[in-house]
Order: sequence, then C-alpha cells, then structure tokens
Amino acid sequence: MALFDIFRKNKAADTPDTPAEKEKLEAEKKKLDAGLEKTRTGIFSRLSRAVAGRSRVDEGVLDELEEVLISSDVGVETTVEIIRRIEARVARDKYMDAAELQTILREEIAGLLEERGGDPHFAQDDPQNAQPAPGMPYVLMVVGVNGVGKTTTIGKIAAKLVREGKKVWIGAADTFRAAAIDQLQVWADRAGATLIKQQMGSDPASVAYDTLSSAVAAGADVAIIDTAGRLHNKVGLMAELSKIRNVMAKVIPDAPHEVMLVLDGSTGQNAFEQAKQFTAATAVNSLAITKLDGTAKGGVVIGISERFRVPVRWIGVGEGVDDLQVFDRKAFVDALFA
Ligand code: GDP
Ligand code: GDP
Ligand code: MG
Repeated sequence: MALFDIFRKNKAADTPDTPAEKEKLEAEKKKLDAGLEKTRTGIFSRLSRAVAGRSRVDEGVLDELEEVLISSDVGVETTVEIIRRIEARVARDKYMDAAELQTILREEIAGLLEERGGDPHFAQDDPQNAQPAPGMPYVLMVVGVNGVGKTTTIGKIAAKLVREGKKVWIGAADTFRAAAIDQLQVWADRAGATLIKQQMGSDPASVAYDTLSSAVAAGADVAIIDTAGRLHNKVGLMAELSKIRNVMAKVIPDAPHEVMLVLDGSTGQNAFEQAKQFTAATAVNSLAITKLDGTAKGGVVIGISERFRVPVRWIGVGEGVDDLQVFDRKAFVDALFA
C-alpha cells in the first residue's frame, strides 16, 4: 500500500467514491485535455496528412506514421515498438482501413505503456511504498536542472500532504540564490509546511542535515529536500547530490526514500537527455514532468515513461498549487488521442 493517499493513482473516472471526488477528477481531466491540446492537434494533423488518400495501412503509411511519432517527441525506441505492433496487427487484420489507424494507435500505445510499467503506483519496488522506520519521516529529495519546476512541484506536493493531515518539513538546500530560498518560503507558507533554511551560500548538505534532524525531533511525517541544479558543472552537481545523500543517511539510515527527478516536458528531447544523464549519475527512483499545460511536446511523457525504468509520478499542468496531477498512463494516452 502506498504510504500516503496523495500517491495513489486516481480511481477510474467512472467509479469515484463521492460527488466531490467525481468533480475533482472531471476538473483534472479537463485541465489535462486542455493542456495537451497543442500536442494532440500536432499529432493528428500530421497523422491525417500521412494517411490522406490512402485506403489501407501499407508500408508507406507505416513510414509516415514513424515520422509523425518521432517528430512528436515520443522517442525512437517507443516509436519502433509501436510500429512493430501495428505491423503485426496489420498482418493479422489484412484489410484494415487507414481511417482506423488513430484508434489502433491509441490502443497500441496504451497497451505498450501498461505492459512495460505495470501499475507503478502499487509496484513492489515503488519508493512510495517504502516504510520508514517507526517515528521517522519519509524523505523525498528533489533533483533536476534549473528552471524545470522543482521548487514549484515541492510546494504543490507539500500542499497535498498537509491537506491529507501530514506534518511536512521542507529543506532549502538550493542555497545559491537568496531568491530561491524566498520562493521556497512562499510555497511552504502557502502549503502550511515548515521550512528549514540557512543563509544563502551555506552548505546544502548542512541544510539537509538540519532539516532531517528537525523533522525527526518534531515527529514530522515527510521531509522534502529542494536542491540546486547547475548543469554547467555536472561533476560538481553530482558530487554535491551524493554528499547531501550521505549526510542525510547519518540522521536516517535509509534516507532518502525517494529521489525525484523533475523534468520540463515543454523542452521535449532536452527533457529526455536530462533524464538520461541524471538516471545514469544518481539513483533516481521517480519522475515528475512539468509544464504540460499548453506545450506541443507532451508526447515526450510517453517516450520517457516507456524508456526509463523509473515511474513517472506527477505531471505539472500549471503554476497554481492545484496544478499537479498523479500521472495516470491511461488517462494521459486518452487525453492525447481522444
Ligand atoms: P526550479 O528552478 O527547478 O526550482 O523551478 P521553479 O519551481 O522555480 O519553476 C520555474 C518556473 O516554471 C516558474 O515560473 C514556475 O511557475 C514554472 N512552472 C513550474 N511548474 C509548472 C507547470 O507545471 N506549468 C507551468 N506553466 N509553469 C510551471
Ligand atoms: P564536511 O566535509 O565538513 O562538509 O562534512 P560532511 O560531508 O560529513 O557534512 C556536510 C555538512 O553536514 C557539515 O558541514 C555539517 O553541517 C552537517 N553534518 C554532517 N554530519 C553532522 C553531524 O554529525 N552533526 C551535525 N550537527 N552536523 C553534521
Ligand atoms: Mg528552485
């Protein structure tokens, strides 16, 4: 069982428990649909151009489809797999109509995502099923390059946890700019969380140490550590992240329970590259993909969630405190190909 309610996947929209839950799910779906509109229109207009005037799914259609998918940031590996599946299907149902391609595409992508990842929200090795030692907080460390939305995402997650009745501590371990600490303070206040901070320029590991010590002393349920993300010095950044981890383990031996990499979905292939670099350099075990409101590159979520063996946990669909949704593969694919 997931440790906190907020980590749980949304129930199917047709089986909400209460009218309030139903309303919330519908609002989330609307927001996601609106956010992905540009991506959807982009894929569809290219797709209909690709199949225009063709009555059957043949080699030519498949070649066009391959191009459409790759240019939609879905990623090469995912594209190859989707094409392979559609080929197999066309071989089975010989006279498939090109007009059916859209439906088939949706079914195959959804199937692919389901198979590969299973249900990450209840998987055995899901960090969010971790059980911290009795009396110890669940520790979430948030990493990613500058500007992707780490601080904002932390604020949104903290707000959800506080609403669930949890005691939340946040550590301001991005100590490079005073503004970064101030921004986190605003989010902590808004969420109702406690911020642990030091002066600008102080050792991030020291802030993390203080945060965990204070969280343990106060009996907090969750401690979230914000970090800096200067990619221009990769070696330095990775060394710093390791140092923060090591210092935290002095306070809580199995901390951090979760290392979440935040990616900016609107940067398409860049997000992909960052996922590659960070997952290779640090033990990332969850992902949040932000800025999926109004981007034309939302397809990248499919590629990332298929390619990396790390569950996409959250998607950001705006700058507001409620603009963070649990990533639901099926809902996402439906929104893309609706
Ligand atoms: P950090 O440097 O990784 O901590 O990034 P911030 O949290 O400071 O976010 C950078 C900018 O992205 C801010 O202006 C945020 O409001 C904005 N932002 C973060 N998440 C989202 C999102 O899901 N949608 C949109 N539109 N903007 C976002
Ligand atoms: P460094 O080589 O001095 O940076 O030592 P570490 O990498 O072990 O720790 C980084 C920072 O975490 C230190 O500067 C301290 O502020 C804090 N820290 C680490 N271990 C302890 C400890 O046992 N007690 C306290 N109070 N702080 C610690
Ligand atoms: Mg920040």
